[in-house]
Amino acid sequence: MDVGASCKGHFAAENTEDLLKVVSEHLQTVHKIKLPSRTIMNYVGKKTK
Ligand SMILES: [Zn+2]
Repeated sequence: MDVGASCKGHFAAENTEDLLKVVSEHLQTVHKIKLPSRTIMNYVGKKTK
């Protein structure tokens, strides 16, 4: 999933669940992208590994 080069590593959260919310909101508000939470979870899981 490509969310844009300017969007690298600026997500901060206490845990994966919070991060999911943050990323989901960010994608919708900044990138106008709406994805199923499962897809975002996959993305977040890879990012935070
Ligand atoms: Zn972004």
